[in-house]
Amino acid sequence: MFGLIGHLNSLEHAQSVARDLGYPEYADQGLDFWCSAPPQIVDEITVTSITGQKIEGRYVESCFLPEMLATRRIKAATRKVVNAMAHAQKHGLKITALGGFSSIIFENFNLQQLQQVRTIKLEFERFTTGNTHTAYIICRQLEQLAPQLGIELSKATVAICGATGDIGSAVCRWLDARTDVAELLLIARDRDRLQALQEELGRGKIMQLEEALPQADIVVWVASMPKGVEIDPAQLKQPCLLIDGGYPKNLGNQIQHPGVYVLKGGIVEHSLDIDWRIMKIVNLMEMPARQLFACFAESMLLEFEKWHTNFSWGRNQITVEKMEMIGQVSLKHGFRPLLSF
Ligand code: NDP
Repeated sequence: MFGLIGHLNSLEHAQSVARDLGYPEYADQGLDFWCSAPPQIVDEITVTSITGQKIEGRYVESCFLPEMLATRRIKAATRKVVNAMAHAQKHGLKITALGGFSSIIFENFNLQQLQQVRTIKLEFERFTTGNTHTAYIICRQLEQLAPQLGIELSKATVAICGATGDIGSAVCRWLDARTDVAELLLIARDRDRLQALQEELGRGKIMQLEEALPQADIVVWVASMPKGVEIDPAQLKQPCLLIDGGYPKNLGNQIQHPGVYVLKGGIVEHSLDIDWRIMKIVNLMEMPARQLFACFAESMLLEFEKWHTNFSWGRNQITVEKMEMIGQVSLKHGFRPLLSF
């Protein structure tokens, strides 16, 4: 049995989802209430592969909200993540994806030190960040869509916002090794980490976002920002492909501008309907029966293949080989990158 640890993308979102999930007592509550709410299993899932294999899973709502980070409720945020992990383990889930901010909080606040959660000693091999599959899917979205928009990779400048992150660095490695992309623009705040990445790649220009945006044919957004940034689309090239892989979304405004194409990044579409109700209720996908976050799909793939191991773990260790490996089983079981706007 696999698991997905998820969270909603704002307090407002959480309140509306709580009502639809049948928890009216959560629906009118503020942030303090969510800080003390325990994790819950809120959905049972069956996924059928195109090979005919069927697997069962559970969705664990951690009750974490990005506002907890924005308002410095760090202890609440970290408790949400380890409590959700303990809950998943207690229910016998063999491999569970840490969706969205869960893995970022786990890493940034060194939660491997908090292995004992009341009576449960967390077995980290039961968890995966899902970032290898997410990075792979973003790269395939980029490779497949750019030519359709008239962007030739061999002449293209690709800016990666969040380049030094776990997903961002993996995207850079893939673009460097598996494509003939002309130029990489590396964007993040910490200069030392940017320089280390530039050295590892042996290429790439370190830049501020404002400087990079007008030069980029493609922008990959994978920065861990609790709230999106507002950008003026008039400063972008035409055509320009923006792949927003953030959760919550990195782009704060809905962009509608000629020649500017915004794609939901790190999203896969399954070939068959998934038997679940959670995606419909959270209302984040056009086709909730088939579309999902690539990190969630990673735990499904590990369950299909019985790779009960933390396939994606730690930070900045994702290799191109592992991206190819998860990519192969992704195709085998009927997942494909979302390519529609
Ligand atoms: P990491 O924490 O590993 O990396 C975040 C990166 O963003 C770092 O390079 C960081 O560098 C940079 N960053 C953070 N804030 C800013 C800022 N204000 N401006 C510029 N750069 C910034 O995160 P992950 O790689 O694990 O995740 C990235 C995003 O992908 C998150 O939004 C996450 O929720 C989402 N995600 C999506 C998934 C999916 O299935 N679609 C799955 C998993 C994650 P620095 O701190 O130096 O600025």
